[in-house]
Amino acid sequence: MLQITCPWCGPREEIEFRNGGEGMALPAQATDAEWARVLYYRSNPAGPYAERWVHSHGCRQWFHVVRDTLTHDITHTSPLDVPPPVPTPVPPPVRPPASPPPDRPSMSASPRDPQANEP
Ligand SMILES: [Zn+2]
Repeated sequence: MLQITCPWCGPREEIEFRNGGEGMALPAQATDAEWARVLYYRSNPAGPYAERWVHSHGCRQWFHVVRDTLTHDITHTSPLDVPPPVPTPVPPPVRPPASPPPDRPSMSASPRDPQANEP
């Protein structure tokens, strides 16, 4: 279970809070397409992630949290009027090149091979 530090109440168990999703700056003016991107698209990074949480079973205040999505380590909490640090994205893991598939047995002896039926 996460231990979350509410900026007003101090450290509490995760069960007292609700996650409000990705924390982002809302534009003062935007087109419909820009609003759709702000409201419905999430960055979903593997690593540090800026979120908003509410202390729903406490002071009922919303605040910023920077949480690592891989380890769940919380590195920052602050009231909404204090901007959170911009999370540094973690580069994706480097995968080794794909190896060729293993050799398969020859299919020339198959009964469907036309040359296999010739005398
Ligand atoms: Zn609180």
